[in-house]
Amino acid sequence: MQGTILILDGVSTNRIMLKVQLSSAWYHVVQADRLAGLAALVRRTRPDLIVTAMNLPDGSALGLRAALAGEELLSATPIIAITPQNDRAARLEALAAGIDEVLAQPLDDMLLQARIRSLIRSRAAADDLHQQSGPGPLAGMAEPGVEFGELASPVAPAKIGEIALVTARATTGTIWRARLKRTVPHRLSSYQMDNVQALMKRSVPDAIVVELCGANDGAGLRLLADLRARSATRHAAIIAVPNPGNSPLAADALDRGAHDVLQGGFCADELALRLEVQLRRKARSDQLRDTVRDGLRAALHDPMTGLFNRRYALPRLAFVAHQAAQTGRSFAVMLADLDHFKQINDRYGHPAGDAVLVETARRLRTALRPEDMIARIGGEEFMIVLPDTGQDAAMTAAGRLCREINASPFIIPGAGHRVQVTTSIGVVVARPPARQSGASDDPITATLIRQADQALYEAKGAGRNQFTMIRPAA
Ligand code: GH3
Ligand code: MG
Ligand code: MG
Repeated sequence: MQGTILILDGVSTNRIMLKVQLSSAWYHVVQADRLAGLAALVRRTRPDLIVTAMNLPDGSALGLRAALAGEELLSATPIIAITPQNDRAARLEALAAGIDEVLAQPLDDMLLQARIRSLIRSRAAADDLHQQSGPGPLAGMAEPGVEFGELASPVAPAKIGEIALVTARATTGTIWRARLKRTVPHRLSSYQMDNVQALMKRSVPDAIVVELCGANDGAGLRLLADLRARSATRHAAIIAVPNPGNSPLAADALDRGAHDVLQGGFCADELALRLEVQLRRKARSDQLRDTVRDGLRAALHDPMTGLFNRRYALPRLAFVAHQAAQTGRSFAVMLADLDHFKQINDRYGHPAGDAVLVETARRLRTALRPEDMIARIGGEEFMIVLPDTGQDAAMTAAGRLCREINASPFIIPGAGHRVQVTTSIGVVVARPPARQSGASDDPITATLIRQADQALYEAKGAGRNQFTMIRPAA
């Protein structure tokens, strides 16, 4: 089943015709004939989308959007309204009230289906992002100035965005830009279809409006698919404008990945409304993606020092071992442990100890190459992995790390204490394993960690503030 669609229409023959069409496209269909009592039905059936007649026995589609606005889980349900005839003013009013699409009778079946697919797809993508970003008061995390929560009024202004217009001929771009400038506050730029490389080179716009122009619609359709596929532009909002208006082309554009389409051709007022909706949707998904990224970052980093944590370090070590097996180059693993750290805590207090850990992390990190990995794997223990490193280079690096810590005292912020700190380091240099298998990396990494730990123990036993290197058995 593709999803549940609620049909709302006072005329039973309209409902039946729509139901036949939607059921044959494998949607589960529920029906209602009026607004009264609808909230309970919607709560129970949780439709993925609502197709409603614009005029209802006890109100209009605008009332439906308002009725859903107060329901947290339902306020974002996409709504398609069907009008008896093509009435531009009514259409703009409905879009302004948060209706997602307005289609006129007689219905173009292909366009209706494409629009349903596109709205359900984009709703599902938003739900996925919501789920990945986890529970929490998302609205509270919104940037100031960006409407974030679904509960926000659908017509609340979005922040100023960058909009690129891509047209077949430069003159069309100039005309569209001049008209749009009067209706939107955003920064507008225009590009010709055969020179979209210029667009790719600049910072990515928030929205890209693409003209699908009669003779040249193939290029426009290809561009839509291309924009959605490229990593640089795939998060931009993409709006297609068949010029002149063309329903089959509009349907095609939606299926190629356009987020929205002006099926009736260019209209500055309609484009302005659709841009606002798309920019808000984009701002919400950007925010959610950031939340997901922050969550991933938090899961793999130590919050105090900003270094990677053990959870990241172990698979990373396995990866470096695996790569070494491919390239035949050796690599080094180090375990560094601060000396008599407990005494620092005891003498200066735990917060001072924390400050020493933060400064240790900074000193070690800056003494390493960008390709080296350093993680805090315990209280005052750090793991360092140096790819492409032989014994001589490993010894040089370990000596440098010891000096980085012992060469100058640590100044405790606030307290002004100057604390002398030293570290001991255990080093092992791994010759790449002869076998080229990822599966056997785990025992290798466990052995390396054990050997580095053994070397660290020896460095402590030998008086601390030094490194010891273990030469693994051949
Ligand atoms: P050694 O030279 O043998 O390594 O001696 P040590 O004192 O460094 O080793 P020990 O393992 O006895 O003590 C480690 C101390 O590190 C004990 C613990 O309280 C402290 N510690 C662990 N995590 C943190 C932390 O996040 N902050 C602070 N301030 N102290 C920590
Ligand atoms: Mg320790
Ligand atoms: Mg220690």
